[in-house]
Amino acid sequence: MSLLDYAMKRFGNAANSSVTCPICGSKSSHPANKVRLGQTLLCPKCKSLFVIPR
Ligand SMILES: [Zn+2]
Repeated sequence: MSLLDYAMKRFGNAANSSVTCPICGSKSSHPANKVRLGQTLLCPKCKSLFVIPR
């Protein structure tokens, strides 16, 4: 693993955003860039895939 990968990973972990699942209402943490880009997120509680509308 390169130093850049390590830095990216650290940054990614730091930049998590709290998201509320629209199906079960459970709050979970997801990478902020994924949320921002409108990518599909997996709820750890009900295992539903959902997208946060921008
Ligand atoms: Zn859920």
